[in-house]
Amino acid sequence: MHDRALTQMQLETDMRQGFERGEFCLYYQPIFTIETNNLAGFEALIRWNHPTRGMVSPDQFIPIAEENGLILPLGRWILFESCRQMREWQDKNSAAASLKLSVNLSCKQFSQPDLVEQVTAALISTRLAAHCLKLEITESHLMENSVLSVKMMDRLRELGVELSLDDFGTGYSSLSYLHRLPVNYLKIDRSFVSRMTESTENGEIVNTIIRLAQSLKMKVIAEGIETSEQIEQLKQLNCEYGQGYFSQNRWKPKPQKYLLTK
Ligand code: C2E
Ligand code: CA
Ligand code: CA
Repeated sequence: MHDRALTQMQLETDMRQGFERGEFCLYYQPIFTIETNNLAGFEALIRWNHPTRGMVSPDQFIPIAEENGLILPLGRWILFESCRQMREWQDKNSAAASLKLSVNLSCKQFSQPDLVEQVTAALISTRLAAHCLKLEITESHLMENSVLSVKMMDRLRELGVELSLDDFGTGYSSLSYLHRLPVNYLKIDRSFVSRMTESTENGEIVNTIIRLAQSLKMKVIAEGIETSEQIEQLKQLNCEYGQGYFSQNRWKPKPQKYLLTK
């Protein structure tokens, strides 16, 4: 516990300096249409290239950044930088015009009263079309204040951006509440995808989530796809989109235009 507390404190100090020194960067994981194998877009994932610790996982530093408030400037940078990068790809390649960029929002960002203004400013300054941007919000964050959340989501949708419900299945959503959420996509958490080929029961869970999304008129993205067996099963279940290490490998040999990193 003592060691953990020390590491935590050190990370907190390093993080502010690291942000000022430009040690944070974004990786872009491809999201593809399962039926056709076509690239549909990317999810921006933050990385911290620490001078001595190497790459630090966001699972380690996002909770600290949420506690010490750094998530607000960091989140703003992520939004602007990823929109800028997406627009640069679009300027270089007209085929990228139909691709969508997914950006994760922390619960702290989501409760910021000026979030809509921030998103508007990012879109205007980078010249990215609103329909090319998707914002990912986790199920558990929405549950914390459902009335305010729906209002914020409605305002974001009015801008023309799309919304995804991230890590679906892990946050104990009330089903009666789900249909009132103005979200376009449900993302099946990777814990379900990783077990889906192990047994009929696990496959059925994924099937049920896909049917639920379809009946709520939401599109489905399966995350954490690592094997061709998972892809095959998801295809049979009519899951529309997928992402994961499997797709990363598939896209790697493709031309420079879809580089995974900046
Ligand atoms: P997430 O939004 O669920 O992101 C997907 C995570 O799954 C990423 O981990 C990604 O690298 C990992 N992943 C992708 N494909 C596979 C796969 O096939 N197998 C396995 N086992 N894992 C896979 P990462 O990048 O470490 O991010 C962890 C979490 O940190 C994210 O979960 C998200 O909640 C948060 N995060 C990442 N980037 C950002 C960001 O820019 N802003 C905010 N607020 N949170 C972020
Ligand atoms: Ca996500
Ligand atoms: Ca997720």
